[in-house]
This record gives sequence, C-alpha cells and structure tokens, in this order.
Amino acid sequence: MKLNKLTKMLLDIVYPKRCPICMELIPINQEEKICEICIEELPYIQQPRCQKCSKPVFSEEVTYCFDCIKANHYYKNGWAVWLYEGAIKDALHRFKYNNNKNYGRILSKEVVTLYSREIFDAKIDLIIPVPLYRKKEKKRGYNQAGIIATYIGKYMNITCSHNSIIKKINTKAQKNLTDKERISNVKNIFKVTDEKLIKDKTILLCDDIYTTGSTINSCAKELLSCGAKEIYFITLAIGKGF
Ligand SMILES: [Zn+2]
Ligand SMILES: [Zn+2]
Repeated sequence: MKLNKLTKMLLDIVYPKRCPICMELIPINQEEKICEICIEELPYIQQPRCQKCSKPVFSEEVTYCFDCIKANHYYKNGWAVWLYEGAIKDALHRFKYNNNKNYGRILSKEVVTLYSREIFDAKIDLIIPVPLYRKKEKKRGYNQAGIIATYIGKYMNITCSHNSIIKKINTKAQKNLTDKERISNVKNIFKVTDEKLIKDKTILLCDDIYTTGSTINSCAKELLSCGAKEIYFITLAIGKGF
C-alpha cells in the first residue's frame, strides 16, 4: 500500500517522529533521523585511535589501545561510530530493551555514512550479527545486532546471514565482570552451524556495543576455526582505550 501525502502527515501527527538520541520531535514531513544538534554534539570516534579496534587512544604516538596490547584479537580490524557514554548509552539501551527497532535503521545509516569506504576496502563477503542466545532473542522479540547487520547489508549490498552461527550458552551479562571474567564468560559459547556458507569468506561481524572485545573475539575465533578467511567487526559504540 502506498501512503499518500495526507495520510503520511496524519501519521506524523498521531505518531510523532523523534530523534533517537535526544528524543526531540522531528518536524513533520522530515524523515526520522538523528537531529542536527545531536550530530554536532555526539562523541563520534575520531583520531587518534587504536589501529586494531578503533578505540580512541590518548596520543598520536600510540598505535594500539591497552586491550589490543594485552589480548590477542582474532579479528583483523574493527570500527565503531560513537563512544559508549552519555546520550548514546541511553539510546542504545532503548534500542535494545524498549522495542525501538526503528533505531536500527537510523543508527546503521551513520555506520555506512562513516565507514562505507573501510567496509568496501575490506572486501567483505558476508555480514553476520553477533547472535543472542535463542531463548533470549525469542523473549525480547529481536536481536538488535541482527537489525544493524540487516541494514548495513541492505545499504552496502552485501549478503547478511542470521543463522550461520548461534550462541549455544546463555551467559551472564558482561557489564559487571572483570576483564578476566569477561573472557572466560564468553569462551566457547558460539557454534558455527553452516560451515559451507562461511568457508573462505571475509566476514563483517556486527554488534551494538564493544567494550573489551571479548564477545566479538570469541565469535571471531569460532568463525576462523570453522574455515572463515578473515574477520572484521563494526559496532555502533565502543569503550575508551585508556
Ligand atoms: Zn537529537
Ligand atoms: Zn584496540
């Protein structure tokens, strides 16, 4: 069904569009997007940043962040749009838990605006979201990483697979754990279910947040051990590297 202009306008009045970050109203007839004030003020990741995971580092002379020096990361490279703090933190919480699935389209657009060159140069064959434990996904109704992956795939015209790797263990939330506990909490929790599909592929893993990278690392390790060629990642937000 094609909506005419009047119907669209009425819908805008009944269901006003809001900026996903500050929740301010978007003028009628404009598309749903991050408002101009937020674009100006948000903590976009800038240089200097870690050459491996893209976390901000404190000086141009530093090549890698603290985590990348300490840990052996299985992925080749990764990128993130914002620092995980303030309004971004709140928005990602609403995206994840309050059924704001429409955020996925708007936030993924920022990913592509900023990193289409890097994604293109990496010659990605396949996009895969970091999977949720199946029961958890059923309860929530969606996997936020899956929504991001779908839109990036759509915008970049790259195939996206939602079923080639699963999370086989329901883990504890990572946020209250120490670095060491985080690593052991996510060790061997993923299982590739379609080796044929991932074999020799360069894969872009997608997730909403990267903190120490242990989840993405565990996922990358499983994919590589099952025959994937190379792994990259992209996340909406990332922690600081110092
Ligand atoms: Zn805003
Ligand atoms: Zn790093």
